[in-house]
Amino acid sequence: MRNRRYRVYRRGRTGKARSRGAGDDLISKLKRIHPAAEDYREQSLKIHGLICAKCAREFGDKDRHLLTVHHKDGNPKNNPPDGSNWENLCVYCHDDEHSRGLLGDYLSNEK
Ligand SMILES: [Zn+2]
Ligand SMILES: [Zn+2]
Repeated sequence: MRNRRYRVYRRGRTGKARSRGAGDDLISKLKRIHPAAEDYREQSLKIHGLICAKCAREFGDKDRHLLTVHHKDGNPKNNPPDGSNWENLCVYCHDDEHSRGLLGDYLSNEK
């Protein structure tokens, strides 16, 4: 049996087109769901740290753009300054959250 190669993210010479394409696509999709994300994003990253709340993947300066802010109650207008409604999720977990959860039909409306 072969190990599945799931390490597209290794910083190497190869595979950059592949990994970058997927991430960018999700990011633009998520930006449509959370249009004003930029404002509270930095705050949330500061409060909760550069780590995905779901898969616990850690991020650094180079890939922090893959970390996005999710609203726990599904309301992007609810932005308490203490960060209690925010959750830092990587684009993959975030996408997952929306496709099955609260805003699932939000996405399907678009397609
Ligand atoms: Zn994640
Ligand atoms: Zn979200």
